[in-house]
Amino acid sequence: MSPTTTATSAIAQAAPPTRMYLDGVWREASNGAQVEVVDPVSELVIATVPNASDDDIDEALAAAAVGFRTWRKVSAWERSAKLREMARIIAAEADRFAMVLTAEMGKPLAQARGEIMATADQFDWYADEARRLYGRVVEAHTTDTRILVRREPIGPVAAFAPWNFPSYLPARKVAPALAAGCSVILVPPVEAPLSGLLLAEVADRVGIPAGVVGAITGDPARISARLLASDVIRKVSFTGSVPVGISLLKLAADGVKAVSMELGGHAPVLVFSDADLTTAAKVAAAGKFRNGGQVCIAASRFLVHESIADDFTEQFVAATRALRVGSGFDASSDVGPLGSERRRAAVEGLVADAVGRGASVAAGGSRPADFTSGYFFEPTVLTGVTADMAVMSEEPFGPIAPITTFASFDEGIAIANSTRYGLAGFVFTRDLATAFRASEELEVGMVGVNQLTIATAEAPFGGVKASGFGREGGAEGLDGYTVTKYMSMLLGDGPA
Ligand code: NAD
Repeated sequence: MSPTTTATSAIAQAAPPTRMYLDGVWREASNGAQVEVVDPVSELVIATVPNASDDDIDEALAAAAVGFRTWRKVSAWERSAKLREMARIIAAEADRFAMVLTAEMGKPLAQARGEIMATADQFDWYADEARRLYGRVVEAHTTDTRILVRREPIGPVAAFAPWNFPSYLPARKVAPALAAGCSVILVPPVEAPLSGLLLAEVADRVGIPAGVVGAITGDPARISARLLASDVIRKVSFTGSVPVGISLLKLAADGVKAVSMELGGHAPVLVFSDADLTTAAKVAAAGKFRNGGQVCIAASRFLVHESIADDFTEQFVAATRALRVGSGFDASSDVGPLGSERRRAAVEGLVADAVGRGASVAAGGSRPADFTSGYFFEPTVLTGVTADMAVMSEEPFGPIAPITTFASFDEGIAIANSTRYGLAGFVFTRDLATAFRASEELEVGMVGVNQLTIATAEAPFGGVKASGFGREGGAEGLDGYTVTKYMSMLLGDGPA
């Protein structure tokens, strides 16, 4: 079976929704406009979804306003039960969801299945967190006053998620919003909208009331501008690039809306001289090229102590060359295509710039020869990389691993902290003091020691500096969806 047939037949078999979900109803755009979903392997259209009109967006806003009034009055235990049921359905139907994900985005099916189980985890986690929205009772100055602090849902949420994890990233916004008692309008990524629509399908199936969850598809710039101009929306959550994040921050500022932003990173990997090199090289290659390197916390600058750089590079290159590039539906593929031709062009530009400035290609470096279609690019290792090369400051968001060296702890940390980003950082060492000192000195929101795969529902995910603010997951995950209300009760003289 050719990869083309596989993506098309996967969509036919899994039958994801291809319409918008507005006010509890599945609908086409009011003006009939559509956008195409393209298989990154065959480059053929595999589905179309509505391109929401302004009227549709306004309808979604009106429904979210009503949905918020309904949902905030639903008990935390009932909200929890709905989220738990969503988690159960997603996990039970992981194979179906994974097929859709691979078809629209290209990642290997096993990785897609992993993403779906992590999506289920989000709903499961927030099913618990929904019941842990604790307030406080505070001792007042006087004995006849009671001070209470409550956490209340912030209001209707506009949630924008990107194409690289088109199921998991929407879940990281929809689940906490619902847990807190908010309504939410999800705007799935225009490039890969079907996985987000599947989450709306699950919300519908578990009986979440109309208007509490909406999912609208189409031109993200137009949709976000209209949603953020509305007084209905009280909170904006975006995952994507820094430039789009900044434009949404400006729009949110005009309406004084709360925001959380996860804007990508440029994660350094510090490999210290005492690291277990064989494990580090293997773990680093598997982690780096997962999802084709299109991961916001992807390792993207390998900073290796000069005393072990040759050894590490040799083993890392060998592990990289062993990876197989191919269709996500081919069980032997480790690395699928990039999400779009635009991404591949960006990756090619970064490699050309590095090579032009003197870097060497130790593995990969070009499009694989044996494909006639698809946005494929070989897993690539660059050595002799210097600070002036674009790949050291621009987020590669693709399968490029630049390697450079450092001579001392302080130099390594200085290089690691030298970009505008601050999402994740990684440290390979067997020394406890080095692990702690490096973890504490890295200017990032998350650190992985001797591992690269750290996103998990129970831990707070998010960055510092240009990587944004706000946390998704963990006990912190609900913070962005609640506001604090303080109530002061003057009891007077009390009963006679
Ligand atoms: P982008 O920011 O242009 O798009 C990301 C997602 O945001 C898309 O899926 C799109 O549907 C949506 N989007 C685009 N414009 C929007 C707007 N005006 N309003 C609301 N939503 C909008 O990023 P890209 O071009 O797809 O990728 C380029 C760079 O973005 C990457 O190199 C990477 O740095 C970053 N990125 C980061 C993440 C992440 O997980 N943090 C995800 C995707 C992309």
